[in-house]
Amino acid sequence: LLYNQLQELRGNIRVYCRARGLLPKEVQAGFRECTSFPGEGEVSITSDDGKVKAFEFDSVFGPGATQDEVFEDMEPLILSAIDGYNVCVFAYGQTGAGKTFTMMGPKNNRGVNFRALDKLFRSTDSDSDADYEILVSYLEIYNEEIRDLLNPQQSEKGWGKSGSSSKKLDIRRGPHGMEVPDITLEPVASTQDVMAIMAKGDKARSVTATAMNDVSSRSHSIMQVRITSTNRISGAKAFGKLTLVDLAGSERVGKSKATGQALAEAAAINKSLSALGNCISAISSGKPHVPYRDSKLTYLLQDSIGGDSKTLLFANINPASEHFTETVCTLQFATRVR
Ligand code: ADP
Ligand code: MG
Repeated sequence: LLYNQLQELRGNIRVYCRARGLLPKEVQAGFRECTSFPGEGEVSITSDDGKVKAFEFDSVFGPGATQDEVFEDMEPLILSAIDGYNVCVFAYGQTGAGKTFTMMGPKNNRGVNFRALDKLFRSTDSDSDADYEILVSYLEIYNEEIRDLLNPQQSEKGWGKSGSSSKKLDIRRGPHGMEVPDITLEPVASTQDVMAIMAKGDKARSVTATAMNDVSSRSHSIMQVRITSTNRISGAKAFGKLTLVDLAGSERVGKSKATGQALAEAAAINKSLSALGNCISAISSGKPHVPYRDSKLTYLLQDSIGGDSKTLLFANINPASEHFTETVCTLQFATRVR
């Protein structure tokens, strides 16, 4: 089969694994690094009692991989959003594995979100054949509810615990695919604009994080970039969408520990992550039915996973042997969707 046909059959789904190194505090605590990288695209993990599990992905990035190197690999994928494709990037893994580092990154070492937008601007600015309009939305899904991170008034009300104070946001099918009708769409023209938006959204996230014991690890954050190009001569329009998702932590909450709110959260996370796994694996194995309706996350992103859209999933893993079992789960999830 030709490479392109193969890609088509696989639904344009790629899976990358990224393992960070042990953090200084983990080294101090005497944790052992259990990840190794036997060859290109391979990762292997060894438990404290000597069990070895090996996995293969489209790319594997070890602790030495820089944000630059990771982004370089995915540049063509990002640029296809300019050509009218829907592109979706996910970071999946347990809390502390490096999802936010990969997607957002620290201010002095930016991750995928910032680099992707920067790349889009460079490419659209230098295109003299077309005019571009770029709009960004930034939302969060928590307990199967959608919150607009760019609408501070709504954000300040938090999750509307008593039910009615903050407006519930719905998902609908619009002219350009799935939409949240009342979501804020900010026009952006430069990386400065994007930084301002990210700062605004992250502030909205941290307000609830403090009030609700770091809710960010238990919610999915979704940045969507809509790109409309108009050809200067023919007037022909193309519409593409880039979606960047920092998923909720995939760790299973021990039944004994979880009560009330925590149990509801765990159930919502479990529902959406397993729905995501089921959808992507249905697409990559060519099944006729894809269960998009099983969660808010998959319902919203149905136009960006499957069809002729392009999906990239990062499986972020914690290198400490303490987390061997959880890491196996992450790598099995990532293997299943490939
Ligand atoms: P998650 O979002 O999955 O909960 P984070 O991205 O917050 O995890 O990462 C947890 C910690 O590990 C943070 O202190 C982060 O700076 C650090 N970290 C994650 N990935 C890397 C990496 N590739 N290189 C260096 N430090 C990393
Ligand atoms: Mg995080």
